[in-house]
Amino acid sequence: MQKIKEKVEPDIYSQELIKNMLRRTKIVATLGPATDDPKVLDKIIEAGVDVVRLNFSHDKTEVHKQRAEAARDRAKAHGREVGVLVDLQGPKIRIGKFKNKKITLAEGDTFILDVDYSLTEGNQERVGVTYRPLAQDVERGVTLLLDDGRLVLWVDQVDGSQVICRVVVGGELSDSKGINRQGGGLSAKALTDKDKEHIKIAAEIRADYLAISFPCDADDVNEARELLRAAGGHGGIVSKIERADAIQNIESIIAASDVIMIARGDLGVEIGDAAVPPIQKRLIKMARSMNKVVITATQMMESMIENAIPTRAEVSDVANAVIDGTDAVMLSAETAAGKHAVAAVSAMDRVCRVAEQTREVTHSAHRMDVGFEKIDEAIAMATMYSANHLPVKAIASLTESGSTAKWMSRISSGVPIYALTPHAETRRKVTLFRGVYPVSFMLTSNDPAAVMQEAVDELRRRGAVRNGDIVVLTIGEPLAKPGGTNTMKIVQVGDLHSH
Ligand code: PGA
Ligand code: MN
Repeated sequence: MQKIKEKVEPDIYSQELIKNMLRRTKIVATLGPATDDPKVLDKIIEAGVDVVRLNFSHDKTEVHKQRAEAARDRAKAHGREVGVLVDLQGPKIRIGKFKNKKITLAEGDTFILDVDYSLTEGNQERVGVTYRPLAQDVERGVTLLLDDGRLVLWVDQVDGSQVICRVVVGGELSDSKGINRQGGGLSAKALTDKDKEHIKIAAEIRADYLAISFPCDADDVNEARELLRAAGGHGGIVSKIERADAIQNIESIIAASDVIMIARGDLGVEIGDAAVPPIQKRLIKMARSMNKVVITATQMMESMIENAIPTRAEVSDVANAVIDGTDAVMLSAETAAGKHAVAAVSAMDRVCRVAEQTREVTHSAHRMDVGFEKIDEAIAMATMYSANHLPVKAIASLTESGSTAKWMSRISSGVPIYALTPHAETRRKVTLFRGVYPVSFMLTSNDPAAVMQEAVDELRRRGAVRNGDIVVLTIGEPLAKPGGTNTMKIVQVGDLHSH
């Protein structure tokens, strides 16, 4: 019997080595003022962005529409697919804007959050707040955390509309930063009226994913999906796990979602920063074992907002998320408003590639002892088992909906999974799945053998395989039926050819 060949990890990764590795982990990048520079947008896409995030907590819907269009346009220019993720603001409580964009607070300062004050005229003494009930929800002694906990305010007194605070931890405070109450308990219903309007915009933009902020339970997720479908949207629902209540209902939330996002910013504020790493590991495992996709988000390359290189701690954080098995890693202000958006994407790209070389992430013991529910799922599992135990170069999944490729990508592997599909929506959906690469592929025949031949030729044209390589193909017979995958075939490239 042949042992699976142990891979020896090199000690040094040259640029050249890294360039020749295929990245499986996907990069989500938030668009913003920094990427509105067409050169920057073009370069981040070239540097490897798979999904762009439109953060509806900021900017006008018109701006988001333009950004989605520009990103798709640039992706097309590079012969790539990018997914579009619309991220709803949710019931996050935010401060208003400042007259001069930002202020600096020092420890001991008095600072007033005023629910009656203008939302655009903030100054050194006071700022408006987007949530009127705040003045009723807090009392003396409550701790408020601003900007993901970077600034800490202690409520000294509530006087009518004014929440009068003392600054415990100061720093720079800029427009529209979030406010959390330590220990949670401030947020209202998950979908605000504004979110419901934005869901219609998401449908209009043809968003591939819709992320909901602060969902509490599966009902919040289902409501968002119903509203999106009613508006004619096709996108998958991403549940941002960012409040203590969501952890209580985590199984049902994951079950109701297509994707979860580990939204470490707000989550860390609500449950405490030290609780985040163990929960991250648990959530990634749970999502994958429930056949769901998972994004790890927030502050991954935070220092790159200012600096051209990441800290070792940030490198380690991204690498560990990859080793934990996340589908995607996300950049927020690093790309939306950072000074080094392109370098941030490149840094993530190289860290992911090298982290993926560790043995833990190329082998799988996952789902060895569970029953499969569907024929296409069984085919997907058989494919991955074969691919991980034979020297397979590539997997070609001819797919309508992308679900076979998703099942495959729940299994750790070093073998690339090409999702060949004629549908643009499916290609954009799989941009988020780890190890899955979209390939535009038209069915030109009703004969499965001819179609498989064409699929292998397509991979060869792209340089993904060469003569002699082993490829595992999956296909549904009859062709073009969603959920119809029922056939796995292993071929050696060149074999299929009759000439
Ligand atoms: P946000 O979500 O950036 O919309 O706040 C992410 C997080 O809370 O981590
Ligand atoms: Mn958040």
